[in-house]
Amino acid sequence: MQHAGFEAWCVGGAVRDALLGLAHLDWDLATSATPQQVRRLFKRTVPVGIEFGTIGVLDRDGRMHEVTTFRHDVQTDGRHAIVQFGASLDEDLARRDFTINAIAYDPIAKVLRDPFEGRGDLSRRLVRAVGTADERMREDRLRALRAIRFAARFDFEIAPETWAAIVDSAPHLTRLSPERVKQELDKTMEQVLRPSVALTRWRESGAFTALIPVLSAVSDAALQAVDTLPLPVLAARPLRKPLRVAALFSACDGKAAEQALRALRFSNQEIATIASLVDRYRRFGEELRVSLANGQVPTDAALRRLAASVGRLRVSAFIRLCVACWQPLTHAGERVPMRRQTLRVYRRLMHIAFHDPIEIADLAIDGDDLRRAGVAAGPQLGRTLQRLIDAVIDEPSRNTTETLLAMALAHE
Ligand code: ATP
Ligand code: MG
Repeated sequence: MQHAGFEAWCVGGAVRDALLGLAHLDWDLATSATPQQVRRLFKRTVPVGIEFGTIGVLDRDGRMHEVTTFRHDVQTDGRHAIVQFGASLDEDLARRDFTINAIAYDPIAKVLRDPFEGRGDLSRRLVRAVGTADERMREDRLRALRAIRFAARFDFEIAPETWAAIVDSAPHLTRLSPERVKQELDKTMEQVLRPSVALTRWRESGAFTALIPVLSAVSDAALQAVDTLPLPVLAARPLRKPLRVAALFSACDGKAAEQALRALRFSNQEIATIASLVDRYRRFGEELRVSLANGQVPTDAALRRLAASVGRLRVSAFIRLCVACWQPLTHAGERVPMRRQTLRVYRRLMHIAFHDPIEIADLAIDGDDLRRAGVAAGPQLGRTLQRLIDAVIDEPSRNTTETLLAMALAHE
């Protein structure tokens, strides 16, 4: 682009991460060329956000790089800005949120442009708003949550004026769409090794009170429980992100958690998984902790009932949630089962969940068999099947056609 007489600078997260010595996959570029000029300069382009000046440019390997025309904000409304092109690099950097995100690098001339002392803040490990913190938060309320996320992700402090502006911003965070709030919460769970650091700030700033009121007084123990679950991006298991969210809501009533997740526009599938894990933890987690800590060994029947209620495919997540939520309780002087005991119960529970009949579908007979034997169709049939599976969970040897039919007809 420089050959064509335009400025082109690497900007944003990639420059910050490179200066921190961290890998970053996508390099964003800022340029003095207009979006139309960018499209003419490169063979393969995609108009990813042309109204904001962003063109996706595909390199030789087919990787996309976002190239955005220098711009400045002409009007802001607490979230969306109206932008204007024809700005300088410094103007473009001035509209960025934090000094550490407002550094530009020219890879050809090998020159850094750092008008807001972002490098100084990187070495001081500080998240600081560009310019007047108060104004910057008012322009875009999302920045409060972004500051908290970046600070936790890099283990940085937040500059005092920036923190004060975040606290002042908190009551106005209701201005953000639930989708954006969910996205910030998701990114926090995905990117931050110890989310409790960020989530404590959500609580202290008043962000939870404004955005997720059931969490306004969330306990330190629940926040620490989130930390003990591994980063979802590093984990192969698909339930890991929902697990972190479940730990966050672990002190809430299952119904309250479900309502909060629905308000944040979590998907139905995420809600089903998380709310059910929270509910089962609330119903069985504490009892299991106390009995294991007292050296009691649950019976097979008790473990079958537990597996049936938690659901075969969620047993593993349930135990992980229990372990995560139990661990911080030691600080509160509570007794927590030893790893070895928990592991033994976990193995038995998994074996039972996948070998014993615990669901209606595992019964030796089905609804058709019952109808043929003379049980009336309708809700009655469902109730009979439930009664049969309950009996089989208590005593799996009952799971034969003859025994089940006899039991079904005895109640007719
Ligand atoms: P990540 O590694 O999480 O992608 P990032 O710094 O690249 O971090 P992005 O959300 O991808 O963050 O944004 C890219 C850049 O755009 C930021 O570094 C920042 O300069 C600017 N930016 C993004 N969102 C805002 C905002 N709400 N207000 C001001 N500038 C922003
Ligand atoms: Mg980025």
